Amino acid sequence: MTKIWEIQIFLFKEVMNIAKILTSTATTAAQRPAVSFGRKQILNYAELAERSLSLAAGITDCLGLKMGDHVALIMKNCPEYIEILFGLWSAGISVVPINTKLHQNEFSFILDHSQSRICFCSPGLVDILTPLVPAISRLEAVISVGEPAYDNLFTGRKKGVVEELEPHNLAWLFYTSGTTGRPKGAMLTHRNLDVMLNSHLADIDDIGEQDCCIHAAPLSHGSGMYVLPHIARGANNVIPESGGFNTQETLELLSHYHGCSAFFAPTMLHRLIQDPAAQSANLNGLKNIVYGGGPMYLEDLKKALSILGPRLSQIYGQGEAPMTITGLTRDMHTDHETEAGVARLKSVGVPRSGVVVKVFDEEAQELPPGEIGEVVCRGDIVMAGYWRNLEATAETLKSGWLHTGDVGFIDQSGFLTLKDRSKDMIISGGTNIYPREVEEVLLQHPDVQEASVVGRLDPDWGETVVAFIVPSEGSQVDTDDLDTFCIDHIARFKRPKTYHIVDSLPKNNTGKILKIELRKLLKEKTDEICNV
Ligand code: AMP
Repeated sequence: MTKIWEIQIFLFKEVMNIAKILTSTATTAAQRPAVSFGRKQILNYAELAERSLSLAAGITDCLGLKMGDHVALIMKNCPEYIEILFGLWSAGISVVPINTKLHQNEFSFILDHSQSRICFCSPGLVDILTPLVPAISRLEAVISVGEPAYDNLFTGRKKGVVEELEPHNLAWLFYTSGTTGRPKGAMLTHRNLDVMLNSHLADIDDIGEQDCCIHAAPLSHGSGMYVLPHIARGANNVIPESGGFNTQETLELLSHYHGCSAFFAPTMLHRLIQDPAAQSANLNGLKNIVYGGGPMYLEDLKKALSILGPRLSQIYGQGEAPMTITGLTRDMHTDHETEAGVARLKSVGVPRSGVVVKVFDEEAQELPPGEIGEVVCRGDIVMAGYWRNLEATAETLKSGWLHTGDVGFIDQSGFLTLKDRSKDMIISGGTNIYPREVEEVLLQHPDVQEASVVGRLDPDWGETVVAFIVPSEGSQVDTDDLDTFCIDHIARFKRPKTYHIVDSLPKNNTGKILKIELRKLLKEKTDEICNV
């Protein structure tokens, strides 16, 4: 006999699966374009939903995967990315999208740590990834998209279903660079992704069926998140044929499509407006470029507004609260003349719907407007924690607040301005680089006794990595040799662009290297730079 408390649990149990947005759009907008490659439509919504469900059946039937498993994606942007995301979610499997530009050692760490059972990859990466399989305990296979092993997953007669999950179930393991030198996997739940998509529609852009999103930024990061609101509203997801970003292709797509949105890291926006072709391009199709993921120079922003018009919005978020801590809407970009207007352009905007944002002092007490401290936030957007890393979770999620590691202040009108990052992180081209992971590599070199890494402002990349090196006794440091050593051990984009060879590093009385002093030194030492 059913007891009363069992009935209550039944009544209140919420079911959710982010993949349902696709099945729902496939009924209301079946014939609308869902995925395009360049100018060519690849799938409409009915076809995308069918392929995703068929893939869900294939991975469970042919590969034996089950609900709760993890599958990694090491893929450049391509049309298949979207059916794979939805196919895996439909089957109740969590995705682990990984930046394709990482080093083989970094792939190996994340594949192992995430406990991925399968890795889908771009054809060009199969030779790097396949040799990793025997050494990674849970990894069973690497499947290259477009190869027969991939196509076979769609040939079964069984139709997949969208599994009913709970809101707290894991949807996306988002690996961020780690302060300890190891990447950390932010656990994003189906609830987090649902909140992110609805908040985008509420605060940033009201998308319609006639619109499209140009996915020139990596789908493993911000652009992947923006697939969701576009699917929910039946808009077209356009993948550039280059699988990435170049200004000419982007301008060409913006002149071809209508109602275009895109997520751009500041570096991409900088490059777009530096291209003389942007001045004369037909931008009638551009609706909204959402920039974020790293600091934007005011001069670039003003130039972008003068070339592109008031079609820019900014988001501030992090892997731990994806794309959704604060936002600066298109309307908030219109005044670039008055002091108040410029102050807003320098800010990252106001808290997003359903997110509470505060600034704390070192004792976790809220600071009044104008005072600088650590930015914290809470709300349904905040991750569930770091995968298999209780220590980092406890350091980051304290008393219900996500401690972002960013430093800033909130003004009287509620606009947040970021001043610094408390975790020394460098953001180059919109991608995080933690100094520690670069330092750990440099310190392995026999000619290096001590190494410390800081970021230097760069008009193109936002920041570039600069290393200070104390040579081992009796050694002559060859910076070309250090460069090759870095290429052999970490992703190319993380290696220092400049080296300074010094006799000692500035330290406090407990021996901690003073990065503030190094940054001061950097300003003075421009003459002695050894660029590689
Ligand atoms: P990620 O986890 O890779 O998305 O990086 C998140 C970090 O990027 C944040 O903690 C900030 O330091 C930085 N960031 C993100 N958005 C912005 C923005 N709009 N302005 C300045 N920095 C940003």
